[in-house]
Amino acid sequence: MPRVLRVDPADPELDLIREAADALRHGSLVAFPTETVYGLGACGLREDHVLRLFEAKGRPPTHPLILHVASLAEAERLAGPLSGAGARLAAALWPGPLTLVLPRAPQVPRAVTAGLDTMAVRVPAHPIALALALALGEPIAAPSANAHTGVSPTTAEHVLRSLGPAVDLVLDGGATSKGIESSVVDVTGARPVLLRPGSASVARLRELAPDLEIRAASSVSDTASRPSPGMAERHYAPRARVQVVAPADLAASFAGASGEGRRVAVCAWSDAARSWAAARTSGPDDCIYMLSSSPEAYGASLYAVLHDVDARGYDELVIEAVPDGEPWLAVRDRLRRAAAEA
Ligand code: AMP
Ligand code: MG
Repeated sequence: MPRVLRVDPADPELDLIREAADALRHGSLVAFPTETVYGLGACGLREDHVLRLFEAKGRPPTHPLILHVASLAEAERLAGPLSGAGARLAAALWPGPLTLVLPRAPQVPRAVTAGLDTMAVRVPAHPIALALALALGEPIAAPSANAHTGVSPTTAEHVLRSLGPAVDLVLDGGATSKGIESSVVDVTGARPVLLRPGSASVARLRELAPDLEIRAASSVSDTASRPSPGMAERHYAPRARVQVVAPADLAASFAGASGEGRRVAVCAWSDAARSWAAARTSGPDDCIYMLSSSPEAYGASLYAVLHDVDARGYDELVIEAVPDGEPWLAVRDRLRRAAAEA
């Protein structure tokens, strides 16, 4: 199993960060926390290192990686000066959960961009991720630190459970705060395009880029050429079978699934679900996960629930559908794909 170093997320110990940066330089795969989810890092400009990442995750080579850098200045050192919507978004939201798709810099290996002429870049807000990028002094390519199509990790434990010995070193900085991946915005065209909804709210993105086009809901097959490669239909999926049901159908769906003798958990958020859960007279209570009715707080705990459902061996998870509307866009996207057929 990998070495695990506990790092203070508020004030990362420099000797530990330097050790991790050295490991990256030598070709190791290092998992580290960002404010969204844990990433599995490799030197982003080294094709041989990056290929190890794809292998460790079982990630198809058609899914490009995000390059993590320590500052806007580092991003511009790689990509050249940003302009227009890209410059506005970066100035306002970096460090933070925003990934910009930019024209590929010549020194970025094709493996990173899955052969595309564009590259994805982000400045993460987590002190450990920032310190690591700063210590390495070059971009860190880092997809989420989970096996391909699995649930993204929000704790070091999730990383160990999903990837185990495929990782060389884990920086354990505790649970991540946002819990849903970054928002991916392509700024290479005439209009900025939201390719993946994420932890940066659509409302905030629109404030900064009023002509933002939302293409995120389009789901495309794993083999087709697609606007945002890597948006495989099934993703973020636990082993348990997942169904997303309308709030009015929650009780009946739970009863139906349990009636088949299966172990069923419920993930819900509404007041009605809370009342139903409180009024239940039979069966254990610990199979009901009540999440927040705020999309940010819901998103922060969703993956922990999905991991826990698997750790406790449930056969099935019934999820109460979340509201329509843009504030819930990223959560709905993750739920839809967690429930997609393999
Ligand atoms: P992950 O690292 O698993 O969180 O996924 C990375 C995300 O970034 C995926 O949704 C990719 O589609 C997206 N991405 C990375 N590079 C590019 C690119 N060059 N063009 C479009 N999307 C990209
Ligand atoms: Mg991922």
